[in-house]
Amino acid sequence: MYFGKMAFDPGHYAGANLGPAGYYEGDAMLQFGLELQKAYDCFLTRTTGKDLDLKQRGLLAKSAGCDAMISLHTNAPKEASGVIIFYPVSRPQDKPVAEALGKELAKAMGLTFRGAKTRTFSDGKTDYYGVIRDGLRAGLKTVFIVEHGSHWEFAVNTKAKIAACVEVYGKFFEMPAKEMTYEQALQVLSDMAGISVGYWAVRKDIDRWFEKFVIDLAKGTLRLKEGK
Ligand SMILES: [Zn+2]
Repeated sequence: MYFGKMAFDPGHYAGANLGPAGYYEGDAMLQFGLELQKAYDCFLTRTTGKDLDLKQRGLLAKSAGCDAMISLHTNAPKEASGVIIFYPVSRPQDKPVAEALGKELAKAMGLTFRGAKTRTFSDGKTDYYGVIRDGLRAGLKTVFIVEHGSHWEFAVNTKAKIAACVEVYGKFFEMPAKEMTYEQALQVLSDMAGISVGYWAVRKDIDRWFEKFVIDLAKGTLRLKEGK
């Protein structure tokens, strides 16, 4: 599903929502967002532990040129296990998309999928969650809130769960690999080949085309690694 440029919104703020000992939703979601940003050309509403109000999150994403936003969360209480996705009540066409995404995320993390849902006020047509309501008002095409299992589930093998979800998001939303400089591309290829960066560097002076070739190759290599 291609929604255009993606924004990710690490829910809450540093130290928010304690799960099992040492697990804070606000910190884990920031770590999650930073890994997404490392892998793909996407926007993050926050890159620090500072809190943002719900309106700001959508406005920041829209002003960064994004089309859609995923708000990253884990759930409480402990009984609220499994993956749940909330999508806007005004966009029934998002239901199958949210269902497909939720199933893939759940499978990648080894959790259950509990469904794609809408939640409204008693009028039945106003989205209950501010991040969805205000995100649409800011002009985003759509906003999903994704609960990546409970805090207690996500606290187990957090790093591996994040890596698995990063891969799912990248493929699902067809996100472009992060733009790379020549130096970053050399590093990627050198790491893959197990040789020193210096081995490649000298060629840049020989052929100008080589610089572009190295960057394209490194981006392609990363995509292969992600199984694209
Ligand atoms: Zn949350």
